[in-house]
Amino acid sequence: DYLDLKASVAGNIRVFCRVRPPSDTQALGHAMPTLGSDSSNVFLKVPGQSSKTYTFDQVFGPSSSQAEVFHEVEPVIKSALDGFNASIFAYGQTGTGKTFTMEGTADIPGVVPRTIERLFNHAWESNNTYSFSFSMLEMYMGNLRDLLVAKPKRLTDPMPRSLVIQRDPNGGIEIENLSSIPVGDCSQALELYKLGCSFRSTAMTNSNVTSSRSHCMTRISIACSDAPERRRETSKVWLIDLGGSERVMKTKAHGRRLEEGRAINLSLSALGDVISALRRKKSHIPFRNSKLTQVLKDSLGDDSKTLMLVHVSPREEDLCETICTLSFAMRVK
Ligand code: ADP
Ligand code: MG
Repeated sequence: DYLDLKASVAGNIRVFCRVRPPSDTQALGHAMPTLGSDSSNVFLKVPGQSSKTYTFDQVFGPSSSQAEVFHEVEPVIKSALDGFNASIFAYGQTGTGKTFTMEGTADIPGVVPRTIERLFNHAWESNNTYSFSFSMLEMYMGNLRDLLVAKPKRLTDPMPRSLVIQRDPNGGIEIENLSSIPVGDCSQALELYKLGCSFRSTAMTNSNVTSSRSHCMTRISIACSDAPERRRETSKVWLIDLGGSERVMKTKAHGRRLEEGRAINLSLSALGDVISALRRKKSHIPFRNSKLTQVLKDSLGDDSKTLMLVHVSPREEDLCETICTLSFAMRVK
């Protein structure tokens, strides 16, 4: 049927695009002439050039709702319940709505809280016994930090144990010392997620700056021992709010900011290289080039589901970054 066809055409890697509303003050009807979209294309009009079309598996326009976005994300969550590892990424320049899509707001929840709700609803309705555990970490300048463990407040407080990426003989990846907290119901999982988000934003002195320069990675492990037809007994879904993709040169950054930007840019391009190599069925997949792709090694690839949610701004002053973001999307598609 139509749904099956759609799934087989898209394969294991899907790339969606979400166009954010111009701004709170601008009416939607007067969106920039630079950027247009329909349900599967983004049209870009660069001054002095002919219009260019970028085709996606799905495009969400400026007036799309969180529910509409989640509706298209849901098949990936379903795959995770069926025992596939899955990773869902929000990619884009800072300010384009990555956190809005993933976390959402108190009134309009995003992909992560909706995923949590979906998983528990499924477990409730299913005849099988599921158990879930929840982890959250932040990757900042190549360092991993557990977001469910409070940062030490005083010098005499014990330092959290450092997180170490481990590979098991079956090719699975585990992160040693990362908290993985069993969650018995939806509200408990949502509480933990809120806690992790709050530790993220208070991590450094300038929270806005830091959060845009780090990757926020939420992991839900799904175990089900009484369903032999599942792909794996324990699968996991990664929900990742990536660091801002804006290029560092343009922003006249220096010192620490420049280093942060470089670290983000490097890990994002390493991620693009891996997905692109997987998509093109290359014999060598360059997982080792960044910590991000090392952590995700067992959740990207043939036996996993990958969803890239690319975010763009319709504003004319963001045009250069929009072109870069759309080029990234075409590289991984
Ligand atoms: P990012 O995480 O990519 O830096 P944010 O998610 O913080 O961007 O979005 C920047 C601002 O724009 C926030 O105030 C957010 O609520 C708002 N915003 C982003 N996308 C949308 C959208 N699709 N609809 C309404 N508001 C949005
Ligand atoms: Mg953000």
